[in-house]
Amino acid sequence: MSDTSFDLVVIGAGPGGYVAAIRAAQLGLKVACVERENLGGICLNWGCIPTKALLRSAEVFHTMHRAKEFGLSVEKPGFDLDAIVKRSRGVAAQMNGGIKALFKKNKVTSIMGEAKLAGKGKVEVKTGKGTETLTAKNIIVATGARARELPGLEADGDLVWTYRHALMPVRMPKKLLVIGSGAIGIEFASFYNTLGADTTVVEVMDRVLPVEDKDISAFAKKQFEKQGMKILQKAMVKQLDRTLGKGVVAHIEMGGKTEKMEFDTVISAVGIVGNVEGLGLEEAGVKIDRTHVITDEYCRTGVEGLYAIGDIAGAPWLAHKASHEGVMVAELIAGKHPHPIKPNSIAGCTYCHPQVASVGLSEDKAKEAGYEVKVGKFPFIGNGKAVAMGEAEGLVKTVFDAKTGELLGAHMVGAEVTEMIQGYVIARQLETTEEDLMETVFPHPTMSEMMHEAVLAAYGRALHI
Ligand SMILES: Cc1cc2nc3c(=O)[nH]c(=O)nc-3n(C[C@H](O)[C@H](O)[C@H](O)COP(=O)(O)OP(=O)(O)OC[C@H]3O[C@@H](n4cnc5c(N)ncnc54)[C@H](O)[C@@H]3O)c2cc1C
Repeated sequence: MSDTSFDLVVIGAGPGGYVAAIRAAQLGLKVACVERENLGGICLNWGCIPTKALLRSAEVFHTMHRAKEFGLSVEKPGFDLDAIVKRSRGVAAQMNGGIKALFKKNKVTSIMGEAKLAGKGKVEVKTGKGTETLTAKNIIVATGARARELPGLEADGDLVWTYRHALMPVRMPKKLLVIGSGAIGIEFASFYNTLGADTTVVEVMDRVLPVEDKDISAFAKKQFEKQGMKILQKAMVKQLDRTLGKGVVAHIEMGGKTEKMEFDTVISAVGIVGNVEGLGLEEAGVKIDRTHVITDEYCRTGVEGLYAIGDIAGAPWLAHKASHEGVMVAELIAGKHPHPIKPNSIAGCTYCHPQVASVGLSEDKAKEAGYEVKVGKFPFIGNGKAVAMGEAEGLVKTVFDAKTGELLGAHMVGAEVTEMIQGYVIARQLETTEEDLMETVFPHPTMSEMMHEAVLAAYGRALHI
């Protein structure tokens, strides 16, 4: 490489790193971004995007089974798993190519290699051609995270899978155990269950999707069970006995007893750990809590000129949080005055069937925080568009501060809610009150009218229930 001196070197080209690099370049900084595997990181290659491609195939397959309801006919619906996976990989590859083009357009120097900190303002990069040292006025560490592996439950790629294996399956599971019912676990459970796998989900907490509002978890659980999934709550997989080529016997502890159950495939989705190793972080003086870098609200590590963003900087582990932090830090470095991120205004979406989306505080969390709350609920069955779409199963729930009318949280389960939640995110960002929301005119017929009704319901004014 001819030029090795930059205003900013970004380590990792996931949605945190590549967005930071582009924004910094737009602001006139000379930027390099180092990536050891795939441009676009986990999100574009092994996370958000390829999973949504798989889930779209499952959704279409599910709808094909319902053809008659819509006055249509389909000869026996079927699927080709290899073709579904090929489509998903194609979508990921297309997105990955897009980042390459964006880097070129914005004049970001893209370096494929493994980077680590090498003293103040220095980054050492190992590429296929050898090792070289970049100098940087500023460095952003955006190295992301990987699947957490619990002792005894480690993935082997054959019988026990992480999300990477589940995205490129070696077979269609017949009897599937999913350990963990967070977003990643439930999305894969939903995908394989829809395609016909006999699916059991084990969750250690007292409900599925445990970070969601209780009403939403309960509603989603009922729907999953209707679709044939078995959900074991307050249950823990203690041991997996593997017999190669045959399957796994899972020892599952529940209510003080241990039961043995057989499966041909296990997906372990028990969380993630940050990629903090081998980067020279501690030597540089960066503080680490378990597997995450400790930062302030501006993603500053406490070491001058060194920032950490995205999954490596802790929860929420979401692509849009990573990207927003990337923009914020790029602007900070360029001398602008960005606002710090408000974690409570970052929506979480799960693309299972039915979809789940939420922002802000759940009813319980709001009460725990000392708020007196007003709660509104509106069922999909009361919405004309939802019924016309054949998607009448769902719920929208709002939580307001009874004293000030602040929208504390919004929670949804049902079709298209991952697209609708942004309406409430904007409301929170603009600090709208219940009155603003009630006076807003929602177009008809749309599913978004339910968002209006759930606000009206909190104040005893719902019209269609
Ligand atoms: C199955 C799955 C589904 C998901 N679905 C969603 C979703 O629907 N919505 C959502 O918001 N989030 C989703 N996520 C989470 C999302 O993918 C992450 O929050 C996001 O990718 C984090 O971005 P990041 O830039 O911090 O890190 P990453 O995307 O992990 O990128 C980090 C990059 O750094 C590179 N790297 C690491 N170490 C080095 C090094 N030393 N040198 C050079 N490069 C290095 C890695 O190769 C990687 O490409 C999903 C995750 C998974 C696993």
